[in-house]
Amino acid sequence: MAERTIRVLVAKPGLDGHDRGALVIAQGLRDAGMEVVYSGLRQTPEQIVAAALQEDVDCIGLSSLSGAHMELFPEVVRLLRAQGADDILVVGGGVIPREDIPALKEAGIAEVFTPGTSIQETVEFIRTHVRRKEVPQDIPEPPDRIDHIGIAVPSLREALPFYTEQLGMRVIHQEVIEDQQVTAAFLAVGESTVELLEPTAPDSPIAKFLDKRGPGIHHVAYRVKDVAERLRRAREAGCRLIDEEPRPGGHGKLIAFVHPKSTGGVLTEFCQRVDE
Ligand code: ZN
Repeated sequence: MAERTIRVLVAKPGLDGHDRGALVIAQGLRDAGMEVVYSGLRQTPEQIVAAALQEDVDCIGLSSLSGAHMELFPEVVRLLRAQGADDILVVGGGVIPREDIPALKEAGIAEVFTPGTSIQETVEFIRTHVRRKEVPQDIPEPPDRIDHIGIAVPSLREALPFYTEQLGMRVIHQEVIEDQQVTAAFLAVGESTVELLEPTAPDSPIAKFLDKRGPGIHHVAYRVKDVAERLRRAREAGCRLIDEEPRPGGHGKLIAFVHPKSTGGVLTEFCQRVDE
């Protein structure tokens, strides 16, 4: 999974009115490829933490010239912790006496950069210390359920008794589907069905499947809310499609098939109930 660009909030807590240093840092971080949000002058720790959360930053760079860093910097860290956002790296800079640095680090400021620090050192420190966030992937909702499993059989008459007598499943529907040259028996199991598929012609797809692979699972159908959308996603991902567009599947269904090459070896059907 790709790591996203580092996002930094450059913030100036306190009352001093000079932001040239902060702006130079912000530009330096931008030049290094980071996304930088600048809070503006005279921000309270509360405002800074709110902005950091809203902007979903990885790092807050605090700049202070006012001498109030000993109160303001630790307060930012404390508020982040209170919000459960202590994975955000906090660094500080500005006019800060060296003797204050150990106490600031103790309070959770990861590093304190004094005026002699180069931008490059600051960039390197942030790069190596932020907890990188991953780019969220666009994962769809899972299918509602397995709509049905299609099983190719040479003879419904021979295959059915196992399902009806041993498993006790009921044939809820049986039909000849002309354009697929198949007789299908639908057996209910919970909210799903098993479809036993017997070919009606020797050159039908099911007959060819039986010739090549023998009786067995022909396809698995997943109940989805939008077949067209699933097809679009599958196409974009480079899946091998059998149907380029959704088509009527009988029984109030809209269906489309994805080739076994793209699914781990099982012909896969997207199945949408259009009557729901
Ligand atoms: Zn099917």
